[in-house]
Amino acid sequence: MQFIDEIMGWYQQNKRDLPWRNTSDPYVIWLSEIILQQTRVEQGMPYFNRFQEKYPAVADFAGAAENDILNLWQGLGYYSRGRNMHATAQLVMENHGGLFPTRYDDLIQLKGIGEYTAAAISSFSVNEPRAVVDGNVFRLLSRYFGIKEVINSSQGKKIFTQLANEVMNKEQPGLSNQAMMEFGALVCKPKSPDCVICPLNQDCYALKQGEIGNLPVKKKGGSSRSRYFNYVVVLKDNAVLMNKRGPKDIWENLYDFPLFETDTALDAPAVLALPEFVEIFGANVRPESVYRSAKHLLSHQTIYAQFIVIQDFNLTLAQKVNWSYIRFDDLEKMAQPKIIFSFLRNLVH
Ligand code: SF4
Repeated sequence: MQFIDEIMGWYQQNKRDLPWRNTSDPYVIWLSEIILQQTRVEQGMPYFNRFQEKYPAVADFAGAAENDILNLWQGLGYYSRGRNMHATAQLVMENHGGLFPTRYDDLIQLKGIGEYTAAAISSFSVNEPRAVVDGNVFRLLSRYFGIKEVINSSQGKKIFTQLANEVMNKEQPGLSNQAMMEFGALVCKPKSPDCVICPLNQDCYALKQGEIGNLPVKKKGGSSRSRYFNYVVVLKDNAVLMNKRGPKDIWENLYDFPLFETDTALDAPAVLALPEFVEIFGANVRPESVYRSAKHLLSHQTIYAQFIVIQDFNLTLAQKVNWSYIRFDDLEKMAQPKIIFSFLRNLVH
């Protein structure tokens, strides 16, 4: 039996019943694909369900307020995905008459849709013969065929995409792609693949050569940058002073607190002595309490945060357009990064 036939046979027997598999609606497929990027299925599933319920059609998504989308996205990370989706939905309304495109060449023009997502939507919705090459597919192909090309290089991507297109079942591209992805996720797993039950184990290069741990080959990413966030949490009359974050940094348009970022870790008295702090808050601030959070890992940076809590402070906010007092009751309407809503949950409850 051919490589892809084995995998599709396995898929028919073993696939998980995931809600986005029972549709050919390109909007729903798009929703699921973007939500599941960099996210495990178990973590992404409740988000997918919430989004689909709240925005059943692309017009609903396009008409939503950005803060509502980010709020629903809260905790999923990589918030630019939510913002890009909003822009994409609006473009679909304007340029495609509200009909979500299904063709690869149209999809690839849309914001936040790369080759992978365009191939997924076009093949799952209308069976366009475009191979989907995600991490699962890279791993499976690399191990079975013994390909040592670095997967996160442009040359590697080219070679793997070409091979994925060659092995794809051209009669049923959607099913073929789903099967490859599911097989990589459930059988040819990153650690401890199930080679014993794998229907490909007779001819698998990595298994025969004892190379499973070495494949696929990946170039190490750049080192992670450490950032030290000193947050000032000002509480006043059942409200807390929040900051709406600006562009060109992580968490654009999300809400955090007034922030004093430093190059090294400082204790609270040193933060209170920073000239930029004194300029706004004065020299005689007495914090009520200080909390340090566990380090927060993002893709290329590590955030070390501390929260300096101040009660009943009188502050003139005229110069600080991004700062405003938000009542505790209204906090859940404001989209916040995880590090902030975890802190607030403990503080307010
Ligand atoms: S035999 Fe093992 S390494 Fe090879 S394809 Fe199957 S699960 Fe992957």
